[in-house]
Amino acid sequence: MKIAVIGAGAMGSLFGAMLAGADNEVWLYDVWQEHIQTINQEGLSIEREGRSRKVRLNATTEPEKIGRAELTIIFVKSTQTQAATQTALQIAGSDGSVMTLQNGMGNADIIAEVIEPDRILAGTTSHGATMLGAGRIRHAGIGATTIGTWAATGQGRQLAGRFAGFFSQAGIETEAVDEVRSVVWNKLLINIGINAITALSGIKNGQILDLAITRELSRIAVEEAMDVARARDIAIKEDAVDIVFKVAEATAVNRSSMGQDVDNKRQTEIAAINGFIVSEAKKLGIEAPVNFALTALIETLETHYR
Ligand code: NAD
Repeated sequence: MKIAVIGAGAMGSLFGAMLAGADNEVWLYDVWQEHIQTINQEGLSIEREGRSRKVRLNATTEPEKIGRAELTIIFVKSTQTQAATQTALQIAGSDGSVMTLQNGMGNADIIAEVIEPDRILAGTTSHGATMLGAGRIRHAGIGATTIGTWAATGQGRQLAGRFAGFFSQAGIETEAVDEVRSVVWNKLLINIGINAITALSGIKNGQILDLAITRELSRIAVEEAMDVARARDIAIKEDAVDIVFKVAEATAVNRSSMGQDVDNKRQTEIAAINGFIVSEAKKLGIEAPVNFALTALIETLETHYR
């Protein structure tokens, strides 16, 4: 299968490399010249548990070189989804599928503005990756991947099942589900409870659990988001707060991705995480003061980076 990846950062490069290992024709597209040049000249270097391997991949900064692909995976940060979708549209043409495994909410809806929902696959992944430098990534963690079509039609379900099979064959263990919205929401709840709090306070994930007051902040943020989900008839896990605390414990020594973004003075995905809850709550006439405060503080921080 011919697969294009838009946004060949940590995750895009990882998924691209794994899919290429299963005899798919994979093309990476990124706007970062040095990274693409290094991959073309030396291959992509993937570090895992202290060992490093090199993978040869097609990589380009010119999307028109890719031609048409059966599957286009968007792996930019959610702030860049709109731009990436325009590129995906060129590559997918009138019948290719477009997939997002990005964090946050709103990515699939942005794609759905220009691509029919039964050609859009959304989902989540528990694989973790870190960018080490141009042409170099670390595969930091392995976990499950779940996908489903944004429009749960018969044709869409078939497509999700087929792509889940391809991914699993490539070593990305993937399950296809009918109701992917609730899967994306349940992941969102985890990011709501961890990301902005750790980013603003400079702590690691596990340190959320150290103080009763920090746990309380996380709990209220998650419960506000759960109220929004219920008002939208989304089937969320009722023990979401416990799940957030378990994830914080299991990833105790990690700095969240939003924490890393703030540390490196990069734009964060706040608008698609806590900010998404604030705007949905407003539409629904629900109060979400903790998510508002977290969003406002992150946006203030981003605006005044030096
Ligand atoms: P990243 O910053 O490492 O990679 C994003 C890449 O997109 C960069 O290389 C950047 O140059 C490129 N880019 C930006 N604008 C572009 C454009 N218009 N066209 C093409 N390329 C463009 O980010 P990441 O860590 O790989 O995360 C990608 C998404 O996956 C995010 O939504 C993140 O939340 C999610 N995610 C990350 C992890 C992880 O462990 N890193 C795990 C699960 C989900």
